[in-house]
Amino acid sequence: MPIDPGRRALILRELGLAPIWVPRDRLHSAPAPDLAVAEAPAPAATAQDLAEDRTARILRMEWPELKQEVKGCTACGLHAGRTQTVFGVGDEQADWLLVGEGPGAEEDARGEPFVGQAGRLLDNMLAAIGLARGRDVYIANVVKCRPPGNRVPEPQEAAQCEPFLLQQIRLIAPRLIVALGKTAASNLLHTDASIGSLRGRLHSFQGIPLLVTYHPAYLLRNLPDKAKAWEDLCLACDTMKRLKAGDSAAS
Ligand code: SF4
Repeated sequence: MPIDPGRRALILRELGLAPIWVPRDRLHSAPAPDLAVAEAPAPAATAQDLAEDRTARILRMEWPELKQEVKGCTACGLHAGRTQTVFGVGDEQADWLLVGEGPGAEEDARGEPFVGQAGRLLDNMLAAIGLARGRDVYIANVVKCRPPGNRVPEPQEAAQCEPFLLQQIRLIAPRLIVALGKTAASNLLHTDASIGSLRGRLHSFQGIPLLVTYHPAYLLRNLPDKAKAWEDLCLACDTMKRLKAGDSAAS
């Protein structure tokens, strides 16, 4: 007995075949049924996966690519208020790496770290130990874009910018890192300890000796601490001498 067309449609629908069955009179007007087996959706990449991929990509970059990447970076909110990024400056094979916090107004305008009043003090400090900006010294910051109102960078801003500093350190391979101020010390050493408790002794950043001292901008406001900064510089010089002596003894 022929099956009633209405009942046939009902049965096909119950069997899950309804989308495949197309009445003959609509065969040429209806869209072709999609018989392809749907692929299972790939699991969505988590924010952590994406962050790890970004870091891994940055840690493979050479100088030109790294500079270009920083220039166009919008990974954190600080990009919105910058005039330009402030990548870092100096000898790309320097023994000394100085790390500050972030660009201020003058740095943001000129695209170079430590160019204001604090920068002049830093240059004087370097000159006092026989160093000069760009001659065996590289200067970089924790964040490459100016925080509004010169506030301290937020932890997530510093975290987004961290791979850039990491790769700068890897490419420079300095003998000694000097962290200038609390933000640099906290981010490089992953500690909340005060400068007072961190200065005066040697730390290590991924196997590279690291010393902590005051940020020049802080010293401008707290003149008595300049004497302590001088002690820190003397310790840094002694450390560098020992590191160089150790290297030449080993070779
Ligand atoms: Fe990118 Fe660093 Fe600037 Fe944030 S501060 S936008 S992470 S370059």
